[in-house]
Amino acid sequence: MNRGFAAEIRRVVVFTLLCTLFGLMNGYLTWTLIIGGAVYMVWMLYQIHRLDVWLRQSRFRQPPDASGIWGDVFDSITRLQKRQQREKNLLQSVVRRGQETTAALRDGIILLDNKGNIEWFNEAAKQLLSLRKQDQGHALVNYIRHPGFIQFMEKGDFSESLDLPAPRSEDTRLQYQVTSFGQGECLVIVRDVTRLYKLELMRKDFVANVSHELRTPLTVIRGYVETLGMSPDLPDNWRRALQQMEQQSLRMTALINDLIALSKLETDDNGGNHRALALQPLLQMITNDAVALSGNRDHQFALQCPDDLEVLGSEKELHSAFSNLVFNAVKYSPDNTEVSIKVKQTSQTLEVAIKDQGEGIDPVHLPRLTERFYRVDSSRQSESGGTGLGLAIVKHVLLRHGAKLEIKSQIGQGSTFTCVFPANRIAEAPARRRNPALDVSP
Ligand code: ADP
Repeated sequence: MNRGFAAEIRRVVVFTLLCTLFGLMNGYLTWTLIIGGAVYMVWMLYQIHRLDVWLRQSRFRQPPDASGIWGDVFDSITRLQKRQQREKNLLQSVVRRGQETTAALRDGIILLDNKGNIEWFNEAAKQLLSLRKQDQGHALVNYIRHPGFIQFMEKGDFSESLDLPAPRSEDTRLQYQVTSFGQGECLVIVRDVTRLYKLELMRKDFVANVSHELRTPLTVIRGYVETLGMSPDLPDNWRRALQQMEQQSLRMTALINDLIALSKLETDDNGGNHRALALQPLLQMITNDAVALSGNRDHQFALQCPDDLEVLGSEKELHSAFSNLVFNAVKYSPDNTEVSIKVKQTSQTLEVAIKDQGEGIDPVHLPRLTERFYRVDSSRQSESGGTGLGLAIVKHVLLRHGAKLEIKSQIGQGSTFTCVFPANRIAEAPARRRNPALDVSP
C-alpha cells in the first residue's frame, strides 16, 4: 500500500472515532456519524473540484497542496505530465532534424495525405515544381497537370518511376518516384534527370545516325563481294574468303537493320498508326516465312488462332515481334521438331504463345534475355547468325502495346515465349460485331 493511501485510511479511522466519541457524548450517535460522513463527502468533492480546476489550467500552474491520497494523485499527474512533455520535446526535435535533413536534400520530397493533397514539401520540391507555402492542402495533380502524371497517380501502381518534362520548363526533365505508406499516404520523390535524359537522347541519336551512315557503304561492299564471288575463274582460296566476307556482311546488314528498328521503336512517339489487325492472317504469313526459313530442316508448324480475333496495334511492329519469336523457335530447335503458335483469349488478356521443342534456356538467363546483345551461348549465337537484338525488339514492341513478354524454358524441354496483351488491346472483330453471341475462346 502506498503512503498516501495509508494516510487517507488513517484519516478516515481517526475522523470516524472522533465522530463516534462526540456522538456518544451528545447522545445522537447515528446522526453524528451521518453528518460526519456528509462532511467527508463534501471535502472529497472539494478535492475533486480542485483537481478539475488544476487540470484545466495545469500548463500554467503548480499542483495544489494536498495531503493523503489527493497529494499522491496530484504528484502522479505532475510526473506524468513532465514525462509527456519530455517525450514531446524529443519527438519534436526528431521531426525537426528530419525536416532539416530532407530540406537539405537535392531531390524534392513531397508528402501527400490519403486524398493526394500536399501535406509538406522540402525546399528542392519547391524549386523544381515552383510550389508555394499556400499550396499545402491542395491536390498535387493541380500543380503537375501532365496527363501522364494524372494517369500515374490514378492508377496507383508505383512499381516504376515516371519521367516527364517539368511543369513550367519543357527543357527540364523530372523523374517522379512514389512510395505509399500508412493509410494511403504517399511520399513523392522528385529528381532532376535532365542531364541523364539528354545523354540518353544523344545515345539514341548516335546509334540511329551511325546505323544509317553504315548502311550505304555496307550495301556497296556487299554488292562488290557478291559480284566478285560470281566470277568463274576465281582461285578456290579466294572463293572461300569471298563467301565468308559475304556471310559477314549479311550479318552486319542484319545487325544494322535491327539497330535501326530498335532506335525507331525508342524514338517514335507511338504515332497514331495503331488499328484493329486480324491476327490469323498475320500469324499465317509469319508461319509461311518460317517454313521457308526452316527449309530442309523439316520443322512442323501448328498454328491455332481464331479467325475473327483482332488486336489493336501497329502491323509492322507486331509482325516484327512475332516473327522474331517464331524465327528464334526455328533457329534454336533441332531439325524435325514442332513449333506451335497458339492464340488464346481470356476475360482479361489475349495471349500469343510460341512454343518450341528446342534445347531450352537455363532459367538463370531468363531475366536478362531481353537485354541488347545478351547471349546465352556466344558460340551458338554466331553460328545461328543472330544479332542478339531480336528479343530486345520484341520487348520494346510489346511495351508500346501495353503488353508484356513471359518466357518459360528449361534446358532440354523447349521454350515458350508468350506475348500477353491487356483486354483493352482486343479489338471488336467483324464477326463478333455481326453476332455478339459468337464465342472466340478456343
Ligand atoms: P538472336 O538474334 O541472336 O536470336 P535474340 O535477342 O532473339 O537474339 O535472342 C537472345 C538469345 O536468347 C539468343 O542468343 C538465344 O541464345 C536465346 N534464345 C532466344 N530464343 C530462343 C529459343 N526459342 N530457344 C532457345 N534459346 C533462345
